[in-house]
Amino acid sequence: MNQDCIFCRIAGGQIPAKELYRDEDVLAIEDVNPQAPCHALVLPLQHHDNIATLVEAGDGATTGKLFEVASRLGRERGGENGFRLVINTGSNGGQTVNHLHVHVLAGRPMTWPPG
Ligand code: 5GP
Ligand code: ZN
Repeated sequence: MNQDCIFCRIAGGQIPAKELYRDEDVLAIEDVNPQAPCHALVLPLQHHDNIATLVEAGDGATTGKLFEVASRLGRERGGENGFRLVINTGSNGGQTVNHLHVHVLAGRPMTWPPG
């Protein structure tokens, strides 16, 4: 638990969030500033700065769990029309909260390339 980290505080129940799913490893919440009709965030309960540091830590089980939960939410929310998973990483990646999270976006057509 990193007291300076907003997602650690959400994971610890110190800051409220609309929870969609929680187990012993990961938490899924609604994004406070949604960019699509469905915009969820899936994050590990344990603090990792980003996907690169999680992979470097060798925690393949948590990596897999994040994708399992994100994909399931995308299927539930996006149905046959699909969905998008995004992991912004570092400053050039557009990451603003330095606690790893997978964005799950669904409910409208997405465009490409990203900004
Ligand atoms: P990033 O820019 O790091 O990829 O994504 C951070 C996301 O976290 C943004 O989409 C932002 O709206 C969301 N966010 C920031 N603070 C909070 C918060 O306190 N609660 C929730 N639910 N989402 C947050
Ligand atoms: Zn954290």
